[in-house]
Amino acid sequence: MFVIIQKKSLVIILICVFCISIFFALPLKYTSAHKFDYKVVLDAGHGGRDGGVVGYNNTIEKEINLRYALALKSLLESNNINVVMTRSEDDGLYDINSKNKKLSDMKVRQELIENTQPDLVVSIHMNSFPLKSVSGANCFYGKDNESGKQIADYIQKLFAKNMNSRNSLSKEGDYYILNCTQYPSVLIECGFLSNPTEEAMLNSDEYQNIVIYNIYCGIVAFLGTTKNATNI
Ligand SMILES: [Zn+2]
Repeated sequence: MFVIIQKKSLVIILICVFCISIFFALPLKYTSAHKFDYKVVLDAGHGGRDGGVVGYNNTIEKEINLRYALALKSLLESNNINVVMTRSEDDGLYDINSKNKKLSDMKVRQELIENTQPDLVVSIHMNSFPLKSVSGANCFYGKDNESGKQIADYIQKLFAKNMNSRNSLSKEGDYYILNCTQYPSVLIECGFLSNPTEEAMLNSDEYQNIVIYNIYCGIVAFLGTTKNATNI
């Protein structure tokens, strides 16, 4: 009898030890495998002498674009996704001696994307329209860029669901950054600076965090479908 009880106790102890070791081993195993190979190019639109659009209450697009891009960079990097920024400061990327500074600027961005060979390119912008009542965030993809459309759709749907954006469909857009390479690329117009209410929201930390978080979720959903996803 004593031997039987001892055997039972031993089995129970062994099961407990096994369960406890699994409990502690899992997070360790997860941590050691938690190194992603994803590379995202983050493009803060405009810069330097190209300020982009000016808001109803004088928000400068190039400045708010950079703020959003840097916040998104932090969020991605804190989740082990590699980020390459086209610009991290106010300066544009053009050759100061170039006659066409806009084209010169865009060619540097193109070169950086080609050298990086990213899984995804995300370009951050703010919109403007003569009618100040127009509002909402819009995602654009390049012509014939299927994967660009996929990521644009992911983010646009999240905007529609979580930010009361009326637009649930992304749009094809004829932008240099979307057409200059074959990499999956999305251009996000986060909202209208020409709408004073939306301009104020876009300038608030709270709304910025909501926009950035939705973009981040769309990026993660998209990256999970790419070839690098098998490396996790
Ligand atoms: Zn812009």
